[in-house]
Amino acid sequence: MASVHFLCPQCEARLGREAGEPARACERCGAFNEVIAPGADAIIDRCAACGHDQLYFQKDFNRKTGIALVVVGAIFVPWTYGLSLLGVTILDYIVWRMVKDVIVCYRCQAVHRGYPPNPALKPFDLVVHDRHVYGAAPPGAEEGHR
Ligand SMILES: [Zn+2]
Ligand SMILES: [Zn+2]
Repeated sequence: MASVHFLCPQCEARLGREAGEPARACERCGAFNEVIAPGADAIIDRCAACGHDQLYFQKDFNRKTGIALVVVGAIFVPWTYGLSLLGVTILDYIVWRMVKDVIVCYRCQAVHRGYPPNPALKPFDLVVHDRHVYGAAPPGAEEGHR
């Protein structure tokens, strides 16, 4: 199911909209928003929450799952002569391969989940991220004007 998860612009509650759902007000504070999730086969080239056109993709991977796998592997080490750790490494790799990408907005961090990959998008880029956090000029750019 394709969905968009974003923060309420007023109270910052995490809200989710699934494809096909109509826009509705924030469940927590009642602030109106017009966010709707695009259809499941839409190519995401701008943020569904704020309309921004700079997006990145990343693995929708829960770090806790990976850690839990390692813990389980470590518990079984005495009985498997360390082979369980190898198993965990392989399992971790398989899980990583199965996990799909989500598309995230640089400006508002809205997450678009369940959409086909957009070949125009790039993975997370710290430079682009900093430009959004610190404004148009990267930190240090004004040093020459002191
Ligand atoms: Zn709200
Ligand atoms: Zn956005």
